[in-house]
Amino acid sequence: MPTEQIQIRNFIDGQLIEPVGRQYLDNIEPATGKPYSQVPDSDSRDVELAVAAAVEAFRDWSHQPAMDRSRILLRIADLIERDLEKLARAESIDNGKPLSLARGLDIPRAASNFRFFATAILHTENEAHVTDGIAFNYTLRQPRGVVGLISPWNLPLYLLTWKIAPALACGNTAIAKPSELTPMTAFLLCDICREAGLPKGVLNVVHGTGPNVGQAITAHPRIETISFTGGTVTGRKVAETCAPMFKKVSLELGGKNPNIVFADADQEAAIAGSLRSSFANQGQVCLCGSRVFVERSAYPEFVDRFVQAASKLKVGDPLDTTTEQGAIVSKTQLEKVKFYVDLARAEGGKIALGGAAPEVPNERCRDGYFFPPTVITDLPVSCRVNREEIFGPVVSITPFDSEEEVIGYANDNDYGLASSVWTQNLNRAHRVAEQIHTGTVWVNCWLIRDLRVPFGGMKQSGVGREGGNEALAFFTEPKNVCIAK
Ligand code: NAP
Repeated sequence: MPTEQIQIRNFIDGQLIEPVGRQYLDNIEPATGKPYSQVPDSDSRDVELAVAAAVEAFRDWSHQPAMDRSRILLRIADLIERDLEKLARAESIDNGKPLSLARGLDIPRAASNFRFFATAILHTENEAHVTDGIAFNYTLRQPRGVVGLISPWNLPLYLLTWKIAPALACGNTAIAKPSELTPMTAFLLCDICREAGLPKGVLNVVHGTGPNVGQAITAHPRIETISFTGGTVTGRKVAETCAPMFKKVSLELGGKNPNIVFADADQEAAIAGSLRSSFANQGQVCLCGSRVFVERSAYPEFVDRFVQAASKLKVGDPLDTTTEQGAIVSKTQLEKVKFYVDLARAEGGKIALGGAAPEVPNERCRDGYFFPPTVITDLPVSCRVNREEIFGPVVSITPFDSEEEVIGYANDNDYGLASSVWTQNLNRAHRVAEQIHTGTVWVNCWLIRDLRVPFGGMKQSGVGREGGNEALAFFTEPKNVCIAK
């Protein structure tokens, strides 16, 4: 199926259908700034239809043997892999990310989400407790019902399937809402689900804006479980809607992640790793290390080599397979990035690299949303640019003098999603990891993923954890059955 000029449809009760209001929004290709498809501008009426389908489907799906659910989810994984090229291209066009990144990371990880949870449910254990010879307790883990899954635009299929796979594997039925900015891969996934034999109504995808569709999902009384990934401001709204209804909510939110380089680190590896963690997907990964702290004795050389390496990253048409930096997802996001670079100048920062629009990569991309890798030095640690999430290819580098000082810098932030520590000193690695308030601490690496480990943020980076056991626990209700002897 060509991705150009497609009119995307909602996926409700196993059918690809028009939104009730027949309203559509332009879906803009970030690399060109031009609409290339249309996305349903759905509303609460579409969510009602999806809920009705999901409620109906839950009766059978929740009682399917785990092995049957597993087989279907494994088939979905296989089909994602079969369609890797098509999905990667769709994601690159939709999102502006380099095709090589979509092909090498996002789409394979979407397949492994399904594969992991399809097999995890075959190996779960239930706890049992004998109470002093008077009773026997066991825990029955049951699916929660219809769940709402809301995801952002930066890793569209990867993050949405990280919710869909465990939710369905546990026997729930789902209403998913991708970001209206990047709906295409979720749309293509619907066809894959049909082909894999997923029963109708088990997965429903309703496209549209956050205020219309996302809000209708979070406020719906029949959807008692919400898994949300997105910005902290939106997460707060989701929490406000869900709290009075006592919904079970998982919030994966923003980050302003510290990346700490000690002088004893393997500098070659630290520079290469920091380059990735600063600029992968144009810095639009919640885990990007946008605050780099380098021990003072290593600072001048690190900055020189880092700037030199960043200057070589090829900004270009995302569909060009040699491109390393694609387009920013939207005009609004591009304006936000520019705002923060101007603010950095006003806050006394020195632009060591980038900071202004790059050359147009080619004629096709003349009106695209491009911004080059930008490195800022000399900023005060506590200024806005060092505190607020920019979510673009902008990184600030600051020197530090001691372990204690840099731990203070790392923790002095409202966010607590992830951090990286670069050192060859094993004791220091453990010591620092223990003291940093982030949900993940990577030591001498970045973005390594093992689906069994807990994933999520502290402080304003979120509540709850994704990852293997956490996701299985989140999407099930643990019921204690106590039998007297
Ligand atoms: P966003 O604006 O918060 O949107 C996230 C999702 O929520 C979108 O689907 C959005 O819909 C929807 N939404 C908006 N308003 C809503 C409402 N009132 N009720 C329910 N849903 C609503 O975030 P984004 O700009 O797409 O993504 C970037 C943010 O996500 C960054 O802050 C990044 O750090 C964070 N993120 C976090 C993680 C993590 O694992 N912690 C991973 C990736 C990204 P529309 O946009 O379609 O209107």
